[in-house]
Parts: sequence; structure tokens; C-alpha cells
Amino acid sequence: MTGSETTNYPATGTLAAVPTGAENEVLLKGVHIYGEGDPQDVLIRDGIIADIGTGLSTEGESIDVPGQVLLPGLVDMHVHLREPGREDTETVATGSAAAAQGGFTAVFTMANTAPVTDAPVIAETVWYKGQNTNLCDVHPVGSISKNLAGKELTEFGMMADSDAKVRMFSDDGKCVDDPRLMRRAIEYARGMDVLLAQHCEEPRLTEGAVAHEGAKAAELGLTGWPRVAEESIVARDAIMSRDYGGRLHICHASTEGTVELLKWAKSQGITLSAEVTPHHLLLTDERLETYDGVNRVNPPLREQRDVEALRQALIDGVIDCVATDHAPHGSEEKCCEFDKARPGMIGLETSLALIAQIFVLDGDQDWRFVAKVMSEKPAEITKLPGHGRPIAVGEPANLCVVDTENSWVANGQDMASKSRNTPYEGMDMPVRISTTLLRGKVTCRNGQAVAAKNAAEQG
Ligand SMILES: [Zn+2]
Repeated sequence: MTGSETTNYPATGTLAAVPTGAENEVLLKGVHIYGEGDPQDVLIRDGIIADIGTGLSTEGESIDVPGQVLLPGLVDMHVHLREPGREDTETVATGSAAAAQGGFTAVFTMANTAPVTDAPVIAETVWYKGQNTNLCDVHPVGSISKNLAGKELTEFGMMADSDAKVRMFSDDGKCVDDPRLMRRAIEYARGMDVLLAQHCEEPRLTEGAVAHEGAKAAELGLTGWPRVAEESIVARDAIMSRDYGGRLHICHASTEGTVELLKWAKSQGITLSAEVTPHHLLLTDERLETYDGVNRVNPPLREQRDVEALRQALIDGVIDCVATDHAPHGSEEKCCEFDKARPGMIGLETSLALIAQIFVLDGDQDWRFVAKVMSEKPAEITKLPGHGRPIAVGEPANLCVVDTENSWVANGQDMASKSRNTPYEGMDMPVRISTTLLRGKVTCRNGQAVAAKNAAEQG
């Protein structure tokens, strides 16, 4: 369960101002709202949905999107934008462009930067870079432990009170495996009503591991990462949440057993939310045959039965939402021996198309489901105001438009991300984001992110 209770978290820090005036009108012509009903025109003025109807007109920009699907702007709880420290692989500006091109209006960027985002000054730097780029709201995640060392808690309060208004803490990339530290983190976070996101990996069970522990890893001679390394931490943290409260979130659920544990936790009324990545919903360890480093990811690609269980869990609400775990790496970190390749895949620009393919085009879910798992739920879990809202007059215009007639072939070279490590290279993507709006400002037009205001100086 995730908080449907009232949001008492302070509103986001200094947001980029929404300019006013006639030039700040945008008219979306002929959209199907949530893919339903007759085509409508949606008039946006000063960052707010001002009118919905037919035959509307504007003095401002009019965008013809006949028959396309209008959804709330997508929210990604889990990305790595690599700034500060690895600006050669991604920056807040290039990551924001990738996000806008993928239909996202808000992302949470993890704390495993260099230096680690474990203090207000670093969180504020990331936050202001995002606001200056103004293509997507980039919320820095603070680390749970100083320098991700797993020894000493960071100052959650100072980061929460900073201009960045940090609302999520995670050592993602690493697990908070020390149960005493995790207990203290929960007790500390609970008082501030901030979210703790756990990367579930018992490190003593994954030493040297590069692939899912199973027949495929054995055949290929790769060291295995067993399901129990994830599930033991999910179980422990569920029980900690039961006894100590707080808001806990499970990053990148990857196994059938994790699904069973989440089911149990939710049946007990334990406050525990969970995300799943598009790659764990689609790919299996069969892909490792080629030893291509692009398929190395943490947690690893599992087996078909895990994929099936994760899909059903997302449909049933046992898993709450989709998060990409967008993890850019340079080619030298990926085009090498499999066990030397850095774990992670980029995903911001392909996620909507993959989720639509799996659940809408090949499945029996509708676009409301996509809106729920890619926008409404992640906004609710993170208590993010202004995002994941209903598409209705008076609501903030954080929106994306899906062109369901525009298939394309994934090609890392063409992506807005600075890195190319997509496992979907050459794959057909059935739909494409045509337009994204952040507080009424067009951030993606005709499938291309608009130029970031300060991209040159930042990127
Ligand atoms: Zn992780």
C-alpha cells in the first residue's frame, strides 16, 4: 500500500516560473484523452489545463495530434543522470532531454554520483541544474548512508529542508544490508515522512556475480546472482516496515519470489511499495548467449517465469509502478568482457513504447493502466505535487501525447541520452511520444526534445 493519505510533505522548491500571456497558450487538437472517447481539443494556458472541448482555438501554438493518446506526464522514480562526476556519460541536461523525449515530466535521480549526493549542496546543485534546463523536473535522491559506505546515516533533515526538498533517500547501486543501520534509517525517515528506496541485494550472496544464478549462467560459465539475495532483503525490510513503520519502497523487483513476498506484505497491511523495470518485464537471461555487456544489469535478467510473475503483479497492483533504472554507461564500460561490463541499461526513451507493447497492444490493459503505473502511482508514492494528476480543467499541464501510428526502430545513436547502452538496439518500437508538456511548456515536439535553454553550458 502506498499513501493515499493526505500529503503533508512541503511543496517542491523554487520551481521555474510559468510565464503568462497569450504566447503561453498551447492547443492540442484532436487527442483521445487516456485513449478514450471522441477526439477533443485541450487548451493549455499559463501552465494549467484551461479548457477541454471541440473546435477550440488559440492565439498561441496549435499542435495537431489527431487520434493520438493524451496521458499525464510520466514520472520515473529511478534514474541515474550521472551528474556530478560522470558527465561524459550523462548530464542533468542530456538526461532531461531523454526524459522529455520519453514522455516524462518528473524523474528522481539516484545518489550514487561522484561525489555522492549525501549533503544539501550536492542535492541543490542537481535540482537547480534541472530547473535551469527546464525540460523535466529532476528530483535528486539523497543517499541513506554517507558516501554510500553503509556505516553512518546522512542528514535526511538538512537535505529535506534544502531548496532541493529531497523526498526520497536510497543507497541504490548498493543495498543497506546492515539491519541496524536500516532500522535507524526507518526510524529517522518516519519522523520526516520521507521515502526510503531499497536496492535489495544481500552482498554476501552476490560476490563476483554477473548473471542470474540458473542453468544459463552455468552453461556460460558466469558467476550467479541468486534470487534469494534479493528476496531475503525484501522479506527483512517488509518485516522492518511492519514493526517500525515508515514508507519503504522496493527498487527494481526482479523475481517471482519477490512478488510472493510483496503479496504477503500487502495482505498484512504493511506499507511497502515496489517498482519493476521494463527490462525485467521483457528480457530474460537467454539474452546472455552472446556475452554482450549491454545485457549486464543489476539485478540481472531472470527467467521467463519471473517475467510472467512480474507482469501479473503489475496488473494486480502487487507491484505499484514502472521505473526505468535508466543507467547510462560509456562504450568502454559496456563493450568489453561480460564480467567486466558495468551493470545498467538506458531506458528513458524506450519505456513507454515497451510498456504499451507488453500490456496494451499484446495484452488486455488500456491506456488508463499505463497512466496509472507510469504516472499516477509513482507520483503518489513519492508524494509529488502537480504530477500524475487527472487530465481535467484546472489541473497542471504536465502531459504527454502518444502517437500510436508512429512505429520506429530503437537506435542508440539517435537517442537524446549521452550514452548508447540500450538493449533494444534494432528493435521495433510500436508507438512514439510526439509531444511532452511541462507546466504547459512544450519540452518535446514531433518526437524531439526541444533545445535545453542552458544545454550548451551544462552539457
Ligand atoms: Zn539498484
